[in-house]
Amino acid sequence: MPRFYCPTPLATGLQLDLPAGAARHVQVLRLQPGDTLTLFNGEGGEYEATVERMGRSDVGVHIGVHTPIEREARRAIHLAIGMPANDRMDWLVEKATELGVASIQPLMTERTVLRLDGDRAAKKAAHWQSVAVAACEQCGRNRVPLIHPVTNLSTWIKTTGEALAHTKCLLSLREGTQPLRERMAAADSLGSDCGLTFLSGPEGGLGFAEEALAVAAGFAPVSLGERVLRAETAALAALTLVA
Ligand code: SAH
Repeated sequence: MPRFYCPTPLATGLQLDLPAGAARHVQVLRLQPGDTLTLFNGEGGEYEATVERMGRSDVGVHIGVHTPIEREARRAIHLAIGMPANDRMDWLVEKATELGVASIQPLMTERTVLRLDGDRAAKKAAHWQSVAVAACEQCGRNRVPLIHPVTNLSTWIKTTGEALAHTKCLLSLREGTQPLRERMAAADSLGSDCGLTFLSGPEGGLGFAEEALAVAAGFAPVSLGERVLRAETAALAALTLVA
C-alpha cells in the first residue's frame, strides 16, 4: 500500500485535501477514488485513508483507522558528520534513515570539501529533510529523523556536543582506539535504552585539533577496524552495529 508523509493534523473520520507533496505522488500513481493508502504525520502511528476525490492537482481523502505502530530503533542514535560532497550525503541520509537514525547534524570541518552557508545551507538542509521523508515513506518509519541546519564542528561541539548527557563516540582512525563493539558492550551494561551520538569525519578525516576538541567534550574514540572506510561507509557501519 502506498505510504505518504502528511504533515498536517490527522484524525479518524476527518476529510481533507492532501498537502501538495503527497497529492502530487498520488496523482503520479494514478490512484482512483476508493483506493486506499497509508498516511503518517510524524506524531505517532499511521492512518489508513481512502481517496474520495481526484481533482486536477488536488486529492481529497477520508481518514480511516489509526494504528499506533512505530518502527523505531530501540535506542535513539544521532549522527554528527562532516558532510561528504556530491550526492554522497543524499545517499547517507537515505540509508541512515532506513537504519533508524534519530537525527543528523551535517558539519563543516577543517577538511570539508562542501562549503555551505546562508541560503544555500538552508536549501540543502531542506533537501536532505525531504530525502529523509522519502526514506520514511519507503521503509515504514512513522517518525521522521530531524536533519539539523549545517553548522561548524567547533561551534556544534561547544553549543551542543559538550552538553549531551548520553553516550558519545568519535569514529577515529588513530592507532590503539577501542573497537566500537567493546565500547558498546560497556555502554549496554549501563542500560541499553540511553541515547547515543556518533561524531564522524568527512572524506579527508578530522584534523588533530578537531579530534582533541571532541575528546575534551567527552567523545570516546572508537574504531571500526583496520580499514579506512569512506565517510558515509563509516557512519552507516557504526549505525548498523548498534541498531
Ligand atoms: N583520509 C582520511 C580518511 C577519512 S575517512 C584519513 O586518512 O584520515 C572519514 C571518516 O570516517 C573518518 O574521519 C572517521 O571518522 C571515519 N572512519 C573511517 N574509517 C574508520 C575506521 N576504520 N574506524 C573508525 N572510524 C573510521
